[in-house]
Amino acid sequence: MSGQTVVVLGGDGIGPEVTDAALAVLRRVAGDVDFDERLVGVSAIRADGTALSAATLAACKRADAVLVGALGDPGFPPGSDPDPGEALLTLRSELGVTVNLRPIAARSTLAELGPIRASHVQDVDFLIVRELSGGLYRGGRHARDARAALDECVYTREQVERAARVAFGAARTRVTSVDKANVLETSRLWREVVTEVAREFPEIELEHMLVDNAAMQLLLDARRFDVLLTENLFGDVLSDEASIYCGSIGMLPSASLGTDGSPGLFEPAHGSAPDIAGLGVANPVGAILSGAMLLRHGLDRTAAADAVERAVAAAIDAGTRTRDLQGTATTGEFTAAVLEAL
Ligand code: ATP
Ligand code: MG
Repeated sequence: MSGQTVVVLGGDGIGPEVTDAALAVLRRVAGDVDFDERLVGVSAIRADGTALSAATLAACKRADAVLVGALGDPGFPPGSDPDPGEALLTLRSELGVTVNLRPIAARSTLAELGPIRASHVQDVDFLIVRELSGGLYRGGRHARDARAALDECVYTREQVERAARVAFGAARTRVTSVDKANVLETSRLWREVVTEVAREFPEIELEHMLVDNAAMQLLLDARRFDVLLTENLFGDVLSDEASIYCGSIGMLPSASLGTDGSPGLFEPAHGSAPDIAGLGVANPVGAILSGAMLLRHGLDRTAAADAVERAVAAAIDAGTRTRDLQGTATTGEFTAAVLEAL
């Protein structure tokens, strides 16, 4: 054993199916890691009445990294008690993850699948860095009466600096910082702080872009982007928009990182997809590539991460495709192709 521990939480819907796929790949390239599989979501509610038990949460906090499938179930809609979706939010905030990384890398062999001209898809390869700890999603929510409701949007200098440093550290040539500084006070602070941080990275170019323009530029020509840095809400919206370049929402990995040594949370960008759960047809690429990000950012195993990414690319380029990519491969068949390529 390497002494490294990864907590693995399959969760709900297709979560366990895609997480099993990712785990098979991880075991192949990092067999010395201790993978601690635990229940979360509906299965945990059935077992001990709560979607995320104190013991599981404690294990996650002690681990080097956490791999999650998906949470959410039509039987427990948002706001129900217990609420599996809320468990994921709890996990994120308890782990203290503050920035979310979502790489958007098109595979040229899938370029024909989406709604955008293939020539505009081929070379799309950028990273979205989304701030996770502040903004509207994390501000106060005030009880509404029949006439009004209030959500608060707060950003501190420190939160912006932290996210900006991650973005500049990851950039090859340029950071495009997204805000709405012509309207919002938090965006004006955002722009000011990002500009300050940029001075620490003179080799990286900084451009500011208003979020409405960014939404359009993403569709007009996403090849221009290297790193897109956004606050919480804008990043949520733009990262789903950007997913069209990858052929299917099932293709996208993500990593949520803490900046103070807390374990990172690695999960595919998609949800629990109840409509296809249990059919064995879910695309495991997002989960497998989240495993690669876990190797890279959570366990510092760059060579293993590279190997997994190459194997996924090889499986896709060889024509192995799940149903969401207009193929016929099952989750298991696709995973076998990745293992074979490894
Ligand atoms: P959540 O609120 O949990 O993010 P959501 O409403 O965004 O959920 P998803 O669960 O991501 O929705 O599913 C959206 C659509 O994408 C569904 O039709 C689902 O079947 C499909 N989908 C999601 N993930 C995959 C996957 N890995 N493979 C194939 N199809 C998928
Ligand atoms: Mg979703």
